[in-house]
Amino acid sequence: MLPNTTIMEGEMSLKVEHALHMVGGTGETSYVANSRLQEKAIHQTKSLLAIAVEETYKALHSDQMVVVDLGCSSGPNTLLMLSHVLSVATKLPRRMELQFFLNDLPGNDFNCLFQSLEGFKKRLEGEIEGDLLVPYYVAGVAGSFYGRLFPRASVHLFHSSFCLMWLSQVPEGLKIEHGVPLNKGNIYWTETSLAKVEKAYQEQFQKDFSTFLKLRHTELNVGGRMVLVFVGRRKRTPGNGDFVHLYGLLGEALNSMVLEGIIQEEKVDTFNLPIYGASFEEVESVIHNEGVFDLDRAEIFESSWDPFDDSKDDIYAIPNYMRSGKNVANYIRAVVEPLIVHQFGTVILDDLFARYAHLVSKHLLKKKANHTILVFALKKKA
Ligand code: SAH
Repeated sequence: MLPNTTIMEGEMSLKVEHALHMVGGTGETSYVANSRLQEKAIHQTKSLLAIAVEETYKALHSDQMVVVDLGCSSGPNTLLMLSHVLSVATKLPRRMELQFFLNDLPGNDFNCLFQSLEGFKKRLEGEIEGDLLVPYYVAGVAGSFYGRLFPRASVHLFHSSFCLMWLSQVPEGLKIEHGVPLNKGNIYWTETSLAKVEKAYQEQFQKDFSTFLKLRHTELNVGGRMVLVFVGRRKRTPGNGDFVHLYGLLGEALNSMVLEGIIQEEKVDTFNLPIYGASFEEVESVIHNEGVFDLDRAEIFESSWDPFDDSKDDIYAIPNYMRSGKNVANYIRAVVEPLIVHQFGTVILDDLFARYAHLVSKHLLKKKANHTILVFALKKKA
């Protein structure tokens, strides 16, 4: 028998800085070992980042450029971003000095990241010819990007990849009304959720993203830029590959464990993910309403749920979808494990993600699913 719990009003307003971080270290379930999806996006947006570095350089009146990666995590992707920026810097007419700040939440495995810097330096020195490599300095900044992180006008370029779909907290609006959680049985909004649930997520995103824009505007110097890459959706109505399905299936896996008495129903009812896949128009309208950035360039591209699937085909060859289910479960685990542990403990992990892998395979058997990646290059208004 599972012990009873009392559902507290307001129990769900979990703040991300208290529980969110990717799985640290370099083990099998770590973020380092499970971040190919994010790596592909960094490659895909490389030329846009290069343009931003060049444009930022043109507006600079000094030989020093401050570049910040927001939500850097602890994997090799951060280093990939650094090497892209440094290789552009070698080709600039004036020799620059680069200061990198790597930001993430305090629970991030910064040690793992900093330990990899020495090997990175050696590799880079092998790739970029002697004198061409510009001097660069790397420092970490722990804190939420929904708060101030840097002094006024001190940053020239912000980069952030695969982060801005994370909200600052579980939406305020998902309150427990008369003892019943608004999003009962779900962990994200789904096509069957009450309209209030979708609205709560939307409002939290709008609030958070507008705060983010205001803060970065203050921290950027004149002519400063941002390259923001994150998961969203094309249209208001969610498509086959959107979070509604990706996390809907994780909700289904949790519910199957409720039915078997492995976890308490209340635990699922009071668990909601602090994540939101915004539509392109929603993001654009927040940028427009905030009015402090010009939209320089924007792109949308698709990336298969399975990070190891690089084909452009719409259907899977059997038995690929089975392997894909497992691949998807692996990186979703590297991302949400700490949140799951915070609510349900560690015991359920292997079982939960095996069930999830199975459900994802079934979903992919019907149709291949892609993430929609939104890319925004912004320039601070004068
Ligand atoms: N940019 C890396 C990591 C993406 S994973 C890559 O492309 O591989 C998303 C990262 O965003 C996580 O490390 C998470 O801790 C961080 N993150 C989420 N919300 C954040 C916030 N409010 N402030 C700072 N970092 C945040």
